[in-house]
Amino acid sequence: MPLGLSRKCSAIAPSATLAMDARAKELRSQGVNVIGFAAGEPDFETPAPIREAMKEAMDLGMTRYTPVAGTLELRRAIAARLLEDHGLVYGMDEIVVSNGAKHSLYNAFQAILDPGDEVIVDKPCWVSYPEMVRMAGGVPVFLDCPESQGFLPSMEDFEKLITPRTKAFILNTPSNPNGCMWSREQLEQLADLAVKYDFYIVADEIYEKLVYSGEKHYSIATFGPEVKERTILINGVSKSYAMTGFRIGYACGPRDVIKGMVNYQSQATSAPNTAAQHAAAVALTMPQDCVEEMRRAFEQRRDRLVELINAIPGLSCRKPHGAFYVMMNIRGITGKRYHGTELSGSTAIAEALLEHAHVALVPGAAFLDEGFCRISYATSMENIEEGLRRIAAFVKELD
Ligand code: PMP
Ligand code: GLU
Repeated sequence: MPLGLSRKCSAIAPSATLAMDARAKELRSQGVNVIGFAAGEPDFETPAPIREAMKEAMDLGMTRYTPVAGTLELRRAIAARLLEDHGLVYGMDEIVVSNGAKHSLYNAFQAILDPGDEVIVDKPCWVSYPEMVRMAGGVPVFLDCPESQGFLPSMEDFEKLITPRTKAFILNTPSNPNGCMWSREQLEQLADLAVKYDFYIVADEIYEKLVYSGEKHYSIATFGPEVKERTILINGVSKSYAMTGFRIGYACGPRDVIKGMVNYQSQATSAPNTAAQHAAAVALTMPQDCVEEMRRAFEQRRDRLVELINAIPGLSCRKPHGAFYVMMNIRGITGKRYHGTELSGSTAIAEALLEHAHVALVPGAAFLDEGFCRISYATSMENIEEGLRRIAAFVKELD
């Protein structure tokens, strides 16, 4: 038997967001002054009580395995936060903690998908959704959410995609990569479809705390017991508490699904890092003012970034409602030339910007939407001003 990768592994595309971030960091380590708009990683320091909890965990002897589903301390903290924020009630056997929300999503698809099962995915979508579905043997079925519709789907289009193989829909509101949010009315329509056709809603609520202009995030599991029993709620501490490196995420849902995810995890990874679970429990239970402070800073950055993009001829964007990303429309500069090099699409534009302007962003192609590049504004106002100054100078050079 020849050596080599399996067909399954060869088919997996690397995460474009992480790859772009790694390239920016590498250039920076070589002394290049790169402005990083690539990864969605809050630049704020992790709040002090959380860092203290991580240190305290060592003194408390938290150095051993925990139950596979996560410590009771953390699962109780998750349940208390969901009760306080949304009035949702989850028991300890309806919660599983994993190595980041990414891992929770991965486990969820492994738990619910059989080969050939279909999962409806908004397009543009976060890079990892289609790959995770495929890794679990499923088939992503794409639902177009054009910019002209505010990156939201038409529910008629949605219903047309449903087949007897439809096992789930991934709901990501507020959304990565475009910051759109589903209205309550649209969520109600989705809930009706899920009950009528009997599919899961994998509700990725990782950006729920990052909502602007006084809008409100609704957790779809609150839309009645029939909806809750079809919802796999995914969340984590990475974005709300600036804890990306702690690698703690969680899933809440029907007992059988959670049990399947725990079984999967018990064979693949065991429980996540013990000390980080303690720090996450502190994050979820401490006074939440720091979350609001970070949210306010993101909102100011969003407003400035949107203003700066729309002032550049050939570029434009809509104002996102949540998360910390803007999909910048690049159609006005696609096909132009930078010093003789044709900017044929989003990848060519992102590469040219990195090489010549030292600005790292993610090509829309990674999110299955060519006419855009994604800018993450999880970075300082100074970087936003300087990065957009560089982009404007780059665009001026085009012919
Ligand atoms: N969902 C979405 C939409 C994301 O953007 C991210 C960011 N990586 C995640 C889930 C996972 O975050 P983490 O694994 O850091 O909890
Ligand atoms: N979710 C963030 C992003 O989209 C972090 C990188 C990743 O996990 O994909 O940039």
